[in-house]
Amino acid sequence: MPFKTLDDVSDLHGKTALVRVDFNVPMEDGRITDDTRLRVALPTVRKLTDKGAKVALLAHFDRPKGKRVPSMSLAPVVAPLSNLLGHPVTWSDDCIGDDPKTVLDHLPAGGVALLENVRFHAGEESNDPEFARQLAALGDLYVNDAFSAAHRAHASTEGVAHLLPAYAGESMRRELDALDAALGNPQRPTLGIVGGSKVSTKLDLLKNLVGKLDALAIGGGMANTFLFAQGHDVGGSLCEKDLKDTALDILKEADAKGCKILLPVDVVVAQEFKANAPHRTQALDAPLSADDKIFDAGPQTVAHLTDVMAASKTLIWNGPLGVFELPPFDAATTAAAKFAALQTKAGKLVAVAGGGDTVAALNHAGVIDDMTFVSTAGGAFLEWMEGKALPGVAALES
Ligand code: ADP
Ligand code: MG
Repeated sequence: MPFKTLDDVSDLHGKTALVRVDFNVPMEDGRITDDTRLRVALPTVRKLTDKGAKVALLAHFDRPKGKRVPSMSLAPVVAPLSNLLGHPVTWSDDCIGDDPKTVLDHLPAGGVALLENVRFHAGEESNDPEFARQLAALGDLYVNDAFSAAHRAHASTEGVAHLLPAYAGESMRRELDALDAALGNPQRPTLGIVGGSKVSTKLDLLKNLVGKLDALAIGGGMANTFLFAQGHDVGGSLCEKDLKDTALDILKEADAKGCKILLPVDVVVAQEFKANAPHRTQALDAPLSADDKIFDAGPQTVAHLTDVMAASKTLIWNGPLGVFELPPFDAATTAAAKFAALQTKAGKLVAVAGGGDTVAALNHAGVIDDMTFVSTAGGAFLEWMEGKALPGVAALES
């Protein structure tokens, strides 16, 4: 890896590590409803405190837009975090200036402090050099453990990395390793699955993937646009007809780059957008009325996909193959997910997935823990899949 990790630092005793984490947790009435993001930070915090470092945690919460908004304070994180750590966490009412300085001066070696929401200062999102300098003044080294915030060039994710010796934290390292195994340096043959609703939201993703993968299955609503572009009737399905030429360009590009495209050969059709709506399964070119909508891929399409998956060593997946929220239109997504889980558990496949609805769909299929890695990073994961440089990652490169 082109970055330094916590294994590359030797003498940490009494040093202050500024650690950028993602504590943008779901909260209701000041109570955390899902503490996954706190748990994700624990290995880095423990590794540092075990080596006697003082840990100063930097994070954003919500969108206070550069102002102190009491309802967007990170203070409610202190108690649950100390419970998880089994170790007290000291609070600092600000992330720059005298308050955190005093807190950190008094913190014992191996102690942990959480600093108030970095986005209470406008300099965070504008990546103001003076604000970054004030952050850097508090620490001896910088650790970024927030991959999910790495697509933003903010002071605490990017600016400060240039001012202190900078390291990738443990969860950042895990995420980067997984992404590298999926797309950077994968074992071939590689297969991608891109689904979801619209082509327009995933153009950059599709363009990047067809240049890199051996095969790409296109599913979900966006498959309709491709099928329409190829001259198939899609009835009243979700379809971006104005993207016909773009879809054909992507297919041409895939052909030129040797990426085999898999599109549905059979479809599940219904007229009402609701669970258990009356539906039928039919071959792609069987007649469709203007009220018929394709909500899922059919069993033959799934069989094709699993055949290709069985012959692949690496799978990268973003976007469900159908309207998985409404059974039975979850069938193709769930079947593909279960097959990926089997192959992964058998050691035959490296399976990496990400995306808000994709995570929900894999959870729904009950296979989230059977994938090699599931990214909850959202925007950062998508930008990385699009082949874009992530400023927070680039700033760590030594
Ligand atoms: P992710 O959040 O994982 O990136 P997207 O947001 O792109 O995924 O897509 C998920 C959405 O796509 C889901 O809400 C799903 O219902 C919708 N979808 C999938 N297939 C279809 C389809 N055939 N018609 C309409 N919507 C679809
Ligand atoms: Mg989504």
